[in-house]
This record gives sequence, C-alpha cells and structure tokens, in this order.
Amino acid sequence: MINITRRRFGQTAAAGSAILAAPSILRAQSAGRVVVIGGGAGGGTVAKYVKKDAPDLDVTLIEANAQYTTCFYSNLYIGGIRDLDSITHSYDTMAGNGVNVINAMASGVDAGAKTVTLEDGTVVEYDKLVLAPGIDFKWDAIEGYDEAAADIMPHAYKAGPQTKLLKEKVDAMAEGGTFVMVAPPNPYRCPPGPYERVCMIAKRFKESNPTAKIMILDPKEKHSKQALFQEAWDNHYEGMVEWVPGDFGGKVTAIDATAMTITTEDGEAVKADAANIIPPQKAGTIAEIAGATDDTGWCPIDAHTMASTVVDDVYVVGDACIPGDMPKSGFSANSQAKVCAMAVRNALTGSDLFPARFRNTCWSTVADEDTMKVGASYEATDEKIAKTEGFISEVGESADLRLQTREEADGWYDSITADIFS
Ligand SMILES: Cc1cc2nc3c(=O)[nH]c(=O)nc-3n(C[C@H](O)[C@H](O)[C@H](O)COP(=O)(O)OP(=O)(O)OC[C@H]3O[C@@H](n4cnc5c(N)ncnc54)[C@H](O)[C@@H]3O)c2cc1C
Repeated sequence: MINITRRRFGQTAAAGSAILAAPSILRAQSAGRVVVIGGGAGGGTVAKYVKKDAPDLDVTLIEANAQYTTCFYSNLYIGGIRDLDSITHSYDTMAGNGVNVINAMASGVDAGAKTVTLEDGTVVEYDKLVLAPGIDFKWDAIEGYDEAAADIMPHAYKAGPQTKLLKEKVDAMAEGGTFVMVAPPNPYRCPPGPYERVCMIAKRFKESNPTAKIMILDPKEKHSKQALFQEAWDNHYEGMVEWVPGDFGGKVTAIDATAMTITTEDGEAVKADAANIIPPQKAGTIAEIAGATDDTGWCPIDAHTMASTVVDDVYVVGDACIPGDMPKSGFSANSQAKVCAMAVRNALTGSDLFPARFRNTCWSTVADEDTMKVGASYEATDEKIAKTEGFISEVGESADLRLQTREEADGWYDSITADIFS
C-alpha cells in the first residue's frame, strides 16, 4: 500500500474505497510501483490487469476526471440511440479491487528521478510508468479554431461536455440549415468515427429537420469504410450528405466561430448553421512532457512490450502511441494494454512473457438497425505492430446481417466496458 509522507491527505472521494485526494508525496512500499497516467480504454485496462494478476505490485492510476465517458458509442448518443449515463463509467470497482485511484491531472514527469508530479505539487514515485493519456489537439493547426471556438463549434472528440454540446447544436439547428463537419487529417483517433457521426446526425435531421443538409470538408482523399458509408448515406439519408475530399476543396485553412464561417484552401467561405470541427491531433500533452513523443507528435513503442523506445521504464498504450498497422481505437487500446500489463509484470516480478498478439474491430452504426464493421489481427515484429489478417463488412449485405452486427456491437460495448471498469 501507499505510504503518505509530509502531510496526511484530507479526504477520500468515496468512503471505504481507495480513490484518493492528492497528498504531497506518495511513496509506495511493495514489490514494485506501477503508475498509470490516464484511466481510459488503455490505462484503465493496464491498471486493472496488473493489479489483478500481480496483487503484490502497488498500482496507482492517475486520472483527471472522476468518471469516464466513452468516445465509443458517443455517436449513438448524438443519434438519440443511447443516453449519456449509459456510456459513463466509474472507477469505484477498480479502487475497490486495490488500485490506488487518484483523481488529479498529472502535470510533470521526471524520467530520471522516476516521479510524476500532480497539478497540486504532489509527487508520485514509480518503478514503471505507463502513459495512456489519449489525444490532445493541435489547436494552432487551423487559424481561428481554439478552445474558445470549440464552445461554439464543438469538436466532441473527447467525450463528455463537448459531446453534450454537439448534440444540443444538432438538435437546435435551424430548419433546412447546413451542418458542416470538418474532418481531421491522418493519423487520428477512430478512423471511421467522423463518418459514423455524420450518419447519426443525419438520423436526427431525418427525424426532426428533414430538409437540413450536411457537408463534410475533409482534408483526405479517401476515408475508412468509404464505400460502406457512401452506401449508408444513399440508402438512409438520400440527398442529405455531401462529402468534399481534399483535392476538391475539402482542405480548411481558417475558421471564424463568431461569423460561423469556414474558409477552405481555395478561398471559399462556407457558412454553417451548426458545425463540428475535429482538429488535427497528437498524443496527450503529458506524453510530450515525459519526453516520450517523436517528431510526429506521437510515441514510438517496442511492439513486443509497448515500452517506449525513447524513455526508460516508460510504456505507452492507446491513442498516444504509434500503433503500426493498428487504428487508434478503444478496442486497440484495450488489446495493447493487455500486452503492456504482461510486460510490466514480467519486468517487475519475472512472470512469463508470451509473444504479443493484438486484435481490433471497429463497428459503425449508420442507422437504428444497420451496423457494419472492420477488423484485424496483429502480431509484434521488431519494426511495428503488423497486421496478419483482416475482414470488413460488404456493400449490399442483408438487413438481417446488419441487425445481427448491431447486436454484436452492443455486446462488445458491454464486454469492453466491463473488462475495464468491473
Ligand atoms: C466519436 C468517436 C467514436 C469512437 N468509436 C469507437 C468505437 O466504436 N470503437 C472503438 O474501439 N473506438 C472508438 N473510438 C476511439 C476510442 O474512444 C479511443 O481510441 C480510445 O478511447 C483510446 O483510449 P486511450 O486510453 O488511449 O485514451 P482515452 O480513452 O481518451 O483515455 C485517456 C484518459 O487519460 C486522461 N488523461 C489525459 N491526460 C491526463 C493527465 N495529464 N493526467 C491525468 N489524466 C489524464 C483523460 O482524462 C482520459 O480519461 C471512438 C472515438 C470517437 C471520438
């Protein structure tokens, strides 16, 4: 267990649990101290599995938020299929199982001293540090799109208040208005996410604002599951969705959130009645502070163990890492986390280290009973996480199969969130 020195901490967030308010120095005495920054799909899974499989290790999870709202299924919330409560999860069970959960923002990492500093100055010591902070945005990449602009034109690419705001904007948009989505450049979190979102927004409009239009301004020339999404737009939302790829005017250079205009590379100012701007992305800032990023803004890793290749005793899982052939997804993060947990236990206790294997499936719901998927298996090579085999739904599949895929997706959501949080 953790010893608290210098001063005793004042309160616990939940009586009887190990969710801690931040003390000044956390010095654990155990077979090894594992600190995880970020309690999402990646970090939550690492913390849970290290503690479950090696109870003698001292595992501390540092997470900025008291609850975790999943980005996965947040598009279904926007589409009116799920409510926010059903995609929000607590850390109570993890804390009850012996993980020291600290609700605080980590603001510093000293890789030499092997310490993490929290925003209130508390210092947490580690033997192995796992970075799982997800993404941050390159706020300077599109002129005029900053955090203040995101209050008017939400990104909703970190789930929670932004997702709620985007749904409100969609539901309140003027009758017959134009909704503009600015899609992000590669690489970014959840490649099919923007296009699934368009389907869910179109679903809302079809129900309550049927003359509304959606324009997607996309810097890319092609996107994930393209033929399948285009089929869905034709089948379910005919005439409602226009996708503008990069070479045809999709590249955005400036945004004026007050005037609600979006200016493209060729100088055209598109007027929006409501908008969703998904900016270019990079690894969560704490990864950069820890020195674990490279010139790309993401974290290089050893695919066999998820260890950072640039900082000793640091591992990186989830969206923040450079995942080779894997997409940045919750499924991927959870899969990488299990490899990482095994490697951390091996390093601290000498437990077995098996060859790393990874899996991913991304389901996209395009209408109430119409879901499609793409997925693959992967192995670790000395260069990267490499794809071994994959599958994808086909254009023209039967309604029965698409409904079955929808049920499969719901089953996955329940099982991955149980795998992380219970
Ligand atoms: C609209 C949308 C739809 C998606 N749909 C799917 C889907 O259907 N299937 C799928 O598999 N994936 C989906 N994803 C992707 C998925 O959500 C991410 O890939 C996944 O959450 C990545 O996990 P992570 O652990 O790397 O990051 P996150 O889950 O974002 O977790 C990072 C955590 O770190 C915390 N944190 C960050 N910095 C600090 C700090 N300094 N101190 C303390 N805490 C910190 C954050 O608060 C956060 O809780 C979707 C994403 C979006 C945006």
